[in-house]
Amino acid sequence: MFKSLKGKTAIVTGASKGIGRGIARRLGEAGLNVMVVSRTIADAESVAAEIGPNAQAFAADVTSPDDCAAMAAAAVNRYGGIDILCANAGIFPSARLGEMTPADFDHVVRTNLTGTFLAVSAVLPAMKSSRWGRIVITSSITGPITGFAGWSHYGASKAGQLGFMRSAALELAPWNITINAVMPGNILTEGLDGLGSDYFKAMEASIPMKRLGAVEDIANAVLFFASEEAAYVTGQTLVVDGGQVLPETIAAMG
Ligand code: NAP
Repeated sequence: MFKSLKGKTAIVTGASKGIGRGIARRLGEAGLNVMVVSRTIADAESVAAEIGPNAQAFAADVTSPDDCAAMAAAAVNRYGGIDILCANAGIFPSARLGEMTPADFDHVVRTNLTGTFLAVSAVLPAMKSSRWGRIVITSSITGPITGFAGWSHYGASKAGQLGFMRSAALELAPWNITINAVMPGNILTEGLDGLGSDYFKAMEASIPMKRLGAVEDIANAVLFFASEEAAYVTGQTLVVDGGQVLPETIAAMG
């Protein structure tokens, strides 16, 4: 049904673990060249090795403009261009208001929101030169739709990504570059590991599909936004959460 993306080049930030690893693997299966990016080169290398010879690991911190520029240059150098950016790198440390320091707040916003802006800015020259591009941001339900005690900085960063996306979509449309966002619910990743079994039990109970999501659930949605067929979709979001945001109350779960 979908035209092949074989031979196109994707950069996936935060691809050494979790959702980013799932996205990178799915794009690799679809025949793309994949640049696997994280701060820890050894972890990125092991994901690139899982994907195969068309994948390359690259160490970059998305909070650094220089690292993002080097990441884009390395992709152009190795593959000849950049077609797809998955701006996925993100962190979610918990801190309640009163204990949250300005540095805590800045760190989360700098990584999740400024990091999205820096990665997008770095790939634009290559995408503009080919007049083709797909940018897919990993946002969240937390912030744009829901709240969670301890994650006010995180929620602000994830809602901020969507505000960034909508204006960017207008600027990029004349270049045939789309920018969209997936909004995951609770997905089983290394990043969620530390939250403990009580968290997982409570979450499963509140999700109509009664399971946490798999990274593949998000990767498939990303693949749609990256496809040729999504050419006329820009500035939009897709919630992938097993129905979690739907019930008005627990009673509404039926
Ligand atoms: P994870 O398992 O903790 O993985 C995070 C990835 O980001 C790692 O590869 C990490 O590698 C990388 N990373 C962190 N800071 C970075 C930086 N400054 N520069 C470059 N890479 C960086 O997290 P996850 O659960 O997969 O989450 C990935 C994304 O999905 C995040 O944007 C998160 O907000 C979003 N999300 C997750 C869920 C969920 O339930 N898991 C739900 C909604 C949204 P290094 O540490 O080596 O750099």
